[in-house]
Amino acid sequence: MSVYVFGHKNPDSDSIVGAIALSYLKNQIETEEYIPVKQGDISAETAFILEKFRYADKEPALKISVAGERVYLVDSTDKPHFQDDIDEATIVGIVDHHKLGDISTSTPLEAWIRPIGSSNTVIYEMYRYYGVAIPKEIAGMMMLAILSDTVIFKSPTCTKADTQAVKELAKIAGIEDYKQLAMEMFIAKSAVNGASARDLNTRDHKEFNMNGTKVGIGQLEMIDIALLEPYEDELLEDMKKMKEEGDLHTVLTLLTDIIKEGSKLLVVSDDISKIEDAFNVKLENNRAWLKGVLSRKKQVVPFIQSQF
Ligand code: MG
Ligand code: MG
Ligand code: MG
Repeated sequence: MSVYVFGHKNPDSDSIVGAIALSYLKNQIETEEYIPVKQGDISAETAFILEKFRYADKEPALKISVAGERVYLVDSTDKPHFQDDIDEATIVGIVDHHKLGDISTSTPLEAWIRPIGSSNTVIYEMYRYYGVAIPKEIAGMMMLAILSDTVIFKSPTCTKADTQAVKELAKIAGIEDYKQLAMEMFIAKSAVNGASARDLNTRDHKEFNMNGTKVGIGQLEMIDIALLEPYEDELLEDMKKMKEEGDLHTVLTLLTDIIKEGSKLLVVSDDISKIEDAFNVKLENNRAWLKGVLSRKKQVVPFIQSQF
C-alpha cells in the first residue's frame, strides 16, 4: 500500500518541497511507495522554486481526502491544518519543527520533530542518518525551502543546523550565491498586483484551536510592506468577514517586512485587549508595529495562546 506524504493546508514551500524530498528518501530505503501530494494550490514562491530546479512538471497532485490511507505528515501536527477526514487515516510518521499539535494515532509511528528553522532541515538530517545521496534538483529546492522558512537566516527560529544544511545543499545543487537566489525568491513571493484582499489574507493563513477558542493567523512576508499600505483597509474589512464565516474569536494578519525586520499586525477580534496584552502594545486603527517580529510560530502563536 502506498503512503501519501503531505504538509499543511495552504501549503508553503517547506510543505511542498518537504513532501517531495521525504518521498524520494523513503523510496530509496523502503519497499512501500511514497507519493508526495498537496492539500491546496502552490504559492508563487513555491512555483518559483519548482521552476528554478526543473520540477514544475512533477508538482505533487491534490489530495483532499485521506480516509483509509496511510499517510506521512510534514510541517505540522495540528489537526485543523489537515484534511477533514485525517482521523480516518493511518499516520505512519511525522517530520516537523512546530509546537506539538493535537494529532494522535492508534498505531506506532516514527516522529522526527526538532525545534529548528525548517522541516527541510530535519529531512536533510534524515538523508545523512540513512546515508542517502540527495539529487541535485531536490537539494536546490530543499535549500530554498530552508531559506524561506528562516527568512534568509534572519528568523529567530534559525539555528546552526539550518545554516549548515543550506551551505551543504547549495554545494550539492551547485549554487554559489544562495542569498541572492533567495532574494529573487522573496521578490516572487512579494507580488501583490491583481490579488484580492481574500487572496492576500489566505495566502499563508493558519487556524489554531487555543483551548477551545478559534484563532486565525495569516502572514505575508514581503520585501517592502509599504506596497501593502493601499490594501490595508480592504484587508481588515475582509478579515471581519473571515472571522464571521469561520466563527473565529480573532483574526490576525502579519505584514512582515523582511528588510526592516518587523511585522505590522492587523487585528480583528472579539477582545482587542487580549491581543494588546499579548504583545504589550496599544492598537491604533486595529494596527500595531511589532519590531523584530518575523516568526509566527515563535514570536506570535505562544503569546496569543497564553491569553486563552
Ligand atoms: Mg509551513
Ligand atoms: Mg516549516
Ligand atoms: Mg512560513
